[in-house]
Amino acid sequence: DNGVHSVRKKYRIQVDGSDIPEPITTFQHLHSEYDFNMKCMENISKKGFKELTPIQMQAIPSMMHGREILACAPTGSGKTLAFLVPIISHILKQAKQKKKGKHFCSLILSPTHELAEQTLRECKELVSVKESETPESTSDLIRVKFLDKGETKRYMRRGMKQATSTDLLISTPNRIVYLLQQDPPMISLEFVEWLVVDESDKLFEEGQAGKSFREQLGTIYASCTNPKIRRAMFSATFAYDVQQWCLLNMDNVLQITVGGKNT
Ligand code: ADP
Ligand code: MG
Repeated sequence: DNGVHSVRKKYRIQVDGSDIPEPITTFQHLHSEYDFNMKCMENISKKGFKELTPIQMQAIPSMMHGREILACAPTGSGKTLAFLVPIISHILKQAKQKKKGKHFCSLILSPTHELAEQTLRECKELVSVKESETPESTSDLIRVKFLDKGETKRYMRRGMKQATSTDLLISTPNRIVYLLQQDPPMISLEFVEWLVVDESDKLFEEGQAGKSFREQLGTIYASCTNPKIRRAMFSATFAYDVQQWCLLNMDNVLQITVGGKNT
Protein backbone atom coordinates (compact mmCIF):
# COMPACT_ATOMS: atom_id res chain seq x y z
CA ASP A 1 0.00 0.00 0.00
CA ASN A 2 1.37 3.36 -1.07
CA GLY A 3 -0.17 5.32 1.83
CA VAL A 4 1.43 3.06 4.41
CA HIS A 5 4.72 3.32 2.60
CA SER A 6 4.70 7.10 2.59
CA VAL A 7 3.77 7.27 6.29
CA ARG A 8 6.76 5.11 7.16
CA LYS A 9 9.00 7.17 4.92
CA LYS A 10 7.77 10.47 6.34
CA TYR A 11 8.36 9.42 9.95
CA ARG A 12 11.54 7.43 9.24
CA ILE A 13 10.02 4.18 10.45
CA GLN A 14 11.82 1.10 9.22
CA VAL A 15 10.26 -2.33 9.74
CA ASP A 16 11.77 -5.72 8.98
CA GLY A 17 9.68 -8.86 9.13
CA SER A 18 6.64 -10.43 7.53
CA ASP A 19 2.91 -9.60 7.73
CA ILE A 20 3.62 -6.14 9.11
CA PRO A 21 0.56 -4.42 10.66
CA GLU A 22 -0.22 -0.98 9.26
CA PRO A 23 0.96 2.00 11.29
CA ILE A 24 -1.68 4.20 12.89
CA THR A 25 -1.23 7.94 12.57
CA THR A 26 -3.53 9.45 15.21
CA PHE A 27 -4.55 8.76 18.81
CA GLN A 28 -8.17 8.50 17.60
CA HIS A 29 -7.25 5.33 15.69
CA LEU A 30 -6.45 3.69 19.03
CA HIS A 31 -10.11 3.85 19.87
CA SER A 32 -11.69 3.51 16.43
CA GLU A 33 -9.51 0.64 15.19
CA TYR A 34 -8.34 -1.05 18.37
CA ASP A 35 -11.21 -0.26 20.74
CA PHE A 36 -8.84 1.28 23.30
CA ASN A 37 -10.54 2.28 26.55
CA MET A 38 -12.17 5.75 26.48
CA LYS A 39 -11.06 6.62 30.03
CA CYS A 40 -7.43 5.95 29.07
CA MET A 41 -7.95 8.00 25.91
CA GLU A 42 -9.15 10.90 28.06
CA ASN A 43 -6.14 10.54 30.38
CA ILE A 44 -3.82 10.73 27.37
CA SER A 45 -5.51 13.82 26.05
CA LYS A 46 -5.39 15.41 29.55
CA LYS A 47 -1.61 15.08 29.37
CA GLY A 48 -1.77 17.28 26.31
CA PHE A 49 -0.48 14.67 23.87
CA LYS A 50 -1.83 15.48 20.42
CA GLU A 51 0.15 13.34 18.02
CA LEU A 52 1.61 9.87 18.24
CA THR A 53 5.38 9.64 18.04
CA PRO A 54 6.75 7.48 15.18
CA ILE A 55 7.64 4.53 17.41
CA GLN A 56 4.11 4.63 18.84
CA MET A 57 2.62 4.66 15.32
CA GLN A 58 4.19 1.31 14.46
CA ALA A 59 4.87 -0.45 17.79
CA ILE A 60 1.34 -0.04 19.18
CA PRO A 61 -0.56 -1.72 16.29
CA SER A 62 2.14 -4.42 16.10
CA MET A 63 1.74 -5.35 19.76
CA MET A 64 -2.06 -4.99 19.53
CA HIS A 65 -1.87 -7.73 16.88
CA GLY A 66 0.09 -9.86 19.33
CA ARG A 67 3.36 -9.56 17.45
CA GLU A 68 6.74 -9.99 19.13
CA ILE A 69 8.89 -6.95 18.46
CA LEU A 70 12.33 -5.50 18.79
CA ALA A 71 11.83 -1.73 18.86
CA CYS A 72 14.59 0.80 18.60
CA ALA A 73 13.97 4.56 18.84
CA PRO A 74 15.86 7.52 20.31
CA THR A 75 15.72 8.55 23.98
CA GLY A 76 12.70 10.75 24.65
CA SER A 77 10.68 9.40 21.72
CA GLY A 78 7.82 8.00 23.82
CA LYS A 79 8.71 4.33 24.06
CA THR A 80 7.03 3.94 27.46
CA LEU A 81 3.58 4.82 26.11
CA ALA A 82 4.30 2.60 23.08
CA PHE A 83 4.34 -0.51 25.27
CA LEU A 84 1.94 0.61 28.02
CA VAL A 85 -0.99 1.14 25.64
CA PRO A 86 -1.01 -2.42 24.18
CA ILE A 87 -0.45 -3.99 27.60
CA ILE A 88 -3.26 -2.03 29.24
CA SER A 89 -5.49 -2.89 26.28
CA HIS A 90 -4.64 -6.59 26.63
CA ILE A 91 -5.45 -6.59 30.34
CA LEU A 92 -8.74 -4.73 29.88
CA LYS A 93 -9.83 -7.11 27.10
CA GLN A 94 -9.09 -10.09 29.32
CA ALA A 95 -11.07 -8.50 32.13
CA LYS A 96 -14.02 -8.18 29.74
CA GLN A 97 -13.78 -11.92 29.10
CA LYS A 98 -13.76 -12.43 32.89
CA LYS A 99 -10.26 -13.87 32.86
CA LYS A 100 -9.09 -11.31 35.39
CA GLY A 101 -8.11 -11.87 38.97
CA LYS A 102 -6.10 -15.08 38.99
CA HIS A 103 -2.55 -13.88 38.53
CA PHE A 104 -0.64 -11.06 36.90
CA CYS A 105 -0.42 -11.63 33.14
CA SER A 106 2.02 -8.89 32.16
CA LEU A 107 5.54 -8.13 33.32
CA ILE A 108 7.74 -5.12 32.51
CA LEU A 109 11.45 -5.34 33.24
CA SER A 110 13.41 -2.15 33.73
CA PRO A 111 17.18 -1.99 34.28
CA THR A 112 16.95 0.39 37.29
CA HIS A 113 14.58 1.16 40.14
CA GLU A 114 14.29 4.77 39.06
CA LEU A 115 13.15 3.75 35.60
CA ALA A 116 10.75 1.15 36.99
CA GLU A 117 9.19 3.79 39.26
CA GLN A 118 8.90 6.22 36.38
CA THR A 119 7.13 3.56 34.29
CA LEU A 120 4.79 2.87 37.23
CA ARG A 121 3.92 6.58 37.48
CA GLU A 122 3.26 6.87 33.75
CA CYS A 123 1.07 3.77 33.85
CA LYS A 124 -0.90 5.07 36.86
CA GLU A 125 -1.59 8.30 35.01
CA LEU A 126 -3.06 6.32 32.12
CA VAL A 127 -5.30 4.03 34.16
CA SER A 128 -6.54 6.23 37.00
CA VAL A 129 -10.16 7.35 36.90
CA LYS A 130 -11.81 10.03 38.99
CA GLU A 131 -15.57 9.64 39.39
CA SER A 132 -15.87 13.02 41.15
CA GLU A 133 -13.58 15.68 42.58
CA THR A 134 -12.89 13.95 45.91
CA PRO A 135 -9.58 12.05 46.29
CA GLU A 136 -11.47 8.96 47.56
CA SER A 137 -13.27 8.66 44.23
CA THR A 138 -10.04 7.88 42.38
CA SER A 139 -9.51 4.28 41.30
CA ASP A 140 -7.42 2.39 38.75
CA LEU A 141 -8.77 0.50 35.72
CA ILE A 142 -6.08 -2.14 36.12
CA ARG A 143 -4.03 -3.24 39.12
CA VAL A 144 -0.44 -2.24 38.54
CA LYS A 145 2.36 -2.83 41.05
CA PHE A 146 6.05 -2.11 41.35
CA LEU A 147 8.12 -4.89 42.94
CA ASP A 148 9.84 -2.63 45.46
CA LYS A 149 11.16 -3.71 48.87
CA GLY A 150 7.73 -3.72 50.50
CA GLU A 151 6.10 -5.69 47.72
CA THR A 152 9.04 -8.16 47.68
CA LYS A 153 8.48 -8.75 51.41
CA ARG A 154 4.80 -9.40 50.79
CA TYR A 155 5.75 -12.06 48.20
CA MET A 156 8.17 -13.58 50.71
CA ARG A 157 5.30 -13.83 53.20
CA ARG A 158 2.39 -14.76 50.95
CA GLY A 159 4.11 -16.32 47.92
CA MET A 160 1.86 -16.97 44.92
CA LYS A 161 -1.17 -15.55 46.77
CA GLN A 162 0.32 -12.08 46.49
CA ALA A 163 0.25 -12.33 42.69
CA THR A 164 -3.54 -12.51 42.60
CA SER A 165 -3.81 -8.81 43.50
CA THR A 166 -1.93 -7.68 40.40
CA ASP A 167 -2.54 -7.45 36.63
CA LEU A 168 0.72 -5.77 35.64
CA LEU A 169 3.98 -6.10 37.53
CA ILE A 170 6.90 -3.74 36.97
CA SER A 171 10.29 -4.77 38.29
CA THR A 172 14.03 -4.84 37.93
CA PRO A 173 15.34 -8.31 36.99
CA ASN A 174 17.15 -8.88 40.31
CA ARG A 175 13.98 -8.71 42.46
CA ILE A 176 12.18 -11.28 40.29
CA VAL A 177 15.20 -13.58 40.23
CA TYR A 178 15.51 -13.32 44.03
CA LEU A 179 11.90 -14.50 44.45
CA LEU A 180 12.23 -17.20 41.78
CA GLN A 181 15.30 -18.65 43.48
CA GLN A 182 13.73 -19.13 46.90
CA ASP A 183 13.02 -22.72 47.89
CA PRO A 184 10.14 -23.07 47.22
CA PRO A 185 9.91 -20.21 44.65
CA MET A 186 7.88 -17.26 45.97
CA ILE A 187 6.72 -16.05 42.57
CA SER A 188 5.57 -17.81 39.41
CA LEU A 189 5.85 -16.49 35.87
CA GLU A 190 3.85 -19.32 34.28
CA PHE A 191 0.87 -17.01 33.59
CA VAL A 192 2.81 -14.18 31.97
CA GLU A 193 1.45 -13.44 28.49
CA TRP A 194 3.28 -10.17 27.81
CA LEU A 195 6.90 -9.64 28.80
CA VAL A 196 8.39 -6.23 28.00
CA VAL A 197 12.09 -5.61 28.38
CA ASP A 198 12.72 -1.87 28.53
CA GLU A 199 16.20 -0.52 27.71
CA SER A 200 16.96 -4.01 26.44
CA ASP A 201 20.46 -3.01 25.31
CA LYS A 202 21.36 -2.29 28.97
CA LEU A 203 19.77 -5.49 30.17
CA PHE A 204 21.93 -7.45 27.78
CA GLU A 205 25.19 -5.84 28.93
CA GLU A 206 27.67 -8.23 30.50
CA GLY A 207 29.65 -7.61 33.63
CA GLN A 208 29.20 -6.26 37.16
CA ALA A 209 29.57 -8.21 40.33
CA GLY A 210 27.12 -11.03 40.94
CA LYS A 211 24.77 -12.14 38.23
CA SER A 212 24.79 -10.19 35.00
CA PHE A 213 21.53 -8.92 33.55
CA ARG A 214 21.93 -11.45 30.81
CA GLU A 215 22.01 -14.36 33.23
CA GLN A 216 19.08 -12.89 35.15
CA LEU A 217 17.09 -12.57 31.92
CA GLY A 218 17.89 -16.19 31.12
CA THR A 219 16.45 -17.25 34.48
CA ILE A 220 13.34 -15.11 33.92
CA TYR A 221 12.74 -16.41 30.38
CA ALA A 222 13.11 -19.99 31.53
CA SER A 223 10.35 -19.32 34.09
CA CYS A 224 7.95 -17.83 31.54
CA THR A 225 6.54 -21.18 30.50
CA ASN A 226 3.20 -20.03 29.12
CA PRO A 227 3.09 -21.13 25.45
CA LYS A 228 1.12 -17.94 24.72
CA ILE A 229 4.01 -15.72 25.89
CA ARG A 230 4.63 -12.60 23.77
CA ARG A 231 7.81 -10.58 24.20
CA ALA A 232 8.76 -7.04 23.27
CA MET A 233 12.15 -5.40 23.57
CA PHE A 234 12.59 -1.63 23.58
CA SER A 235 15.83 0.32 23.46
CA ALA A 236 17.39 3.59 22.35
CA THR A 237 20.41 2.07 20.71
CA PHE A 238 20.64 -0.82 18.32
CA ALA A 239 22.56 -3.75 19.80
CA TYR A 240 23.72 -6.59 17.58
CA ASP A 241 23.59 -9.15 20.43
CA VAL A 242 20.00 -8.27 21.24
CA GLN A 243 19.00 -8.51 17.58
CA GLN A 244 20.63 -11.93 17.23
CA TRP A 245 18.92 -13.14 20.39
CA CYS A 246 15.54 -11.94 19.11
CA LEU A 247 15.95 -13.52 15.68
CA LEU A 248 16.86 -16.81 17.31
CA ASN A 249 14.32 -16.92 20.12
CA MET A 250 11.29 -14.88 19.16
CA ASP A 251 8.31 -15.94 17.08
CA ASN A 252 8.22 -14.19 13.67
CA VAL A 253 9.79 -11.08 15.21
CA LEU A 254 9.23 -7.60 13.79
CA GLN A 255 12.18 -5.23 13.99
CA ILE A 256 11.02 -1.63 14.20
CA THR A 257 13.62 1.12 13.96
CA VAL A 258 12.98 4.84 14.02
CA GLY A 259 15.49 7.39 12.80
CA GLY A 260 18.21 4.99 11.72
CA LYS A 261 20.37 2.57 13.67
CA ASN A 262 22.69 4.67 15.82
CA THR A 263 25.48 2.20 16.44
P1 ADP B 1 11.79 7.08 25.85
O1 ADP B 1 11.45 5.91 26.72
O2 ADP B 1 11.65 6.78 24.39
O3 ADP B 1 13.14 7.65 26.18
P2 ADP B 1 9.61 8.33 27.24
O4 ADP B 1 8.61 7.24 27.06
O5 ADP B 1 10.24 8.44 28.58
O6 ADP B 1 10.74 8.24 26.13
O7 ADP B 1 8.90 9.70 26.83
C1 ADP B 1 9.57 10.94 26.89
C2 ADP B 1 8.56 12.04 27.20
O8 ADP B 1 7.66 12.22 26.12
C3 ADP B 1 7.72 11.74 28.42
O9 ADP B 1 7.60 12.91 29.20
C4 ADP B 1 6.38 11.35 27.84
O10 ADP B 1 5.34 11.61 28.72
C5 ADP B 1 6.31 12.19 26.58
N1 ADP B 1 5.47 11.63 25.50
C6 ADP B 1 5.24 10.33 25.21
N2 ADP B 1 4.42 10.19 24.14
C7 ADP B 1 4.13 11.44 23.72
C8 ADP B 1 3.33 11.96 22.64
N3 ADP B 1 2.68 11.15 21.80
N4 ADP B 1 3.25 13.32 22.51
C9 ADP B 1 3.91 14.12 23.37
N5 ADP B 1 4.67 13.70 24.39
C10 ADP B 1 4.81 12.37 24.57
MG1 MG C 1 12.39 4.72 28.07
